[in-house]
Amino acid sequence: MLPQEIVRKKREGEVLTAEEIQFFVKGITDNSVTEGQVAALAMAVFFKGLSVDERVALTLGMRDSGDVLDWSGIDAPIVDKHSTGGVGDNVSLMLAPALAANGAAVPMISGRGLGHTGGTLDKLETIPGYTAKPSNELFNKVVKEVGCAIIGQTGDLAPADKRFYGIRDVTATVESIDLITASILSKKLAAGLETLVLDVKWGTGAFMANYEDAKALAESLVLVANGAGLKTTALLTDMNESLASAAGNAIEVQNAVDFLKGTHIDNRLWDVTVAIGAEGLATSGLADSVDDGKKKMEDAFTSGKAAEIFGKMVGELGGPNDFMEKPEAYLAKAPIQRPVYAEEASLVAGVDARAVGLAVVELGGGRRAAADEIDPAVGLTDIAGVGTSVDSETPIAIIHAHTEDQVERAEKVLRDAYTFGSAGDVKEFATVRDR
Ligand code: URA
Repeated sequence: MLPQEIVRKKREGEVLTAEEIQFFVKGITDNSVTEGQVAALAMAVFFKGLSVDERVALTLGMRDSGDVLDWSGIDAPIVDKHSTGGVGDNVSLMLAPALAANGAAVPMISGRGLGHTGGTLDKLETIPGYTAKPSNELFNKVVKEVGCAIIGQTGDLAPADKRFYGIRDVTATVESIDLITASILSKKLAAGLETLVLDVKWGTGAFMANYEDAKALAESLVLVANGAGLKTTALLTDMNESLASAAGNAIEVQNAVDFLKGTHIDNRLWDVTVAIGAEGLATSGLADSVDDGKKKMEDAFTSGKAAEIFGKMVGELGGPNDFMEKPEAYLAKAPIQRPVYAEEASLVAGVDARAVGLAVVELGGGRRAAADEIDPAVGLTDIAGVGTSVDSETPIAIIHAHTEDQVERAEKVLRDAYTFGSAGDVKEFATVRDR
């Protein structure tokens, strides 16, 4: 077989066989297929697409290009979620312990922030001592004994995707639903999951702003994941404003601790977390139905069980054992906390959530280049959501920063992100729009 013949076949819109796809993926992994050939195939797929069977073959090929985690020693359904990324989206921090409280084993492999979106790994690393890259033994032990472990990618999961994605990134071929599907699912399958819930976001702060595009991605992901043997459902959730009232790193960890302890709960965050968890519990057989799953998720929070599990997970992964009792003692705090007020009392009619995420990047809480260090302490709290009345006492948000210069730049981005009006102008979307 020749790689260029496979590229030519796809260029002509023909369907590739599973063998051809496996051959090409093997070549991506061992570098016997050149960067130019990989880029050419990516572009051919971008224009001609892949059938469901081709997507399944690509997903399985990339899964098998490296390690595949084995959880056979754990007698519980292996459940996880994947979010397409958002602003103020700290759902994972509450979801994993609540699923574990209901009998799931949750080996959650998370990523770093990308562009305007935050990353779970960056958030957890603000907890002193937290080991985001534990040994396989420790990862296994924590999942087995605590029920969940949220970590960064260790080992060699789906290396073909790593190379393929790197080439797509510089050849304008990331935005192919077929390739995104295989990329996301190959990593999830390599993590050894049995049940997956996808949180596909749409709106101003989402990777896919348009609802129809997000729906097409969700449908592709569900079809291919189930075709590859992973029980999967998807929710389409609204990312037209920050999900939590906080955006940043340590700031979102504090928001998650408050949620788990019941001292401050953002309504939209509650709805999304409960809805995703309910899907995971119902699909894995840990709940009789999605409604039963919702009740079980709510109980995990109101009983304090999820909070207890989160605290245990932090301690077992090297963080402070009393983290849940006094998170403020451990999380970095910025010296300046400056409220930003609207010019006149008004109602928030709309928010550009992407710009809110960019205000956090402006403060140093996100990366401009992959190698950048993030600042754990900076970000926004008290972010006013759509429909909130803001005035001289209720700010649009409070900026947490180190310097006046940072405050000035973030304030400008933040002000531009907001539109104001009267009740008739308010754009409200259902938090979970579709299943
Ligand atoms: N995230 C991924 O993991 N892969 C893609 O292709 C796009 C987003």
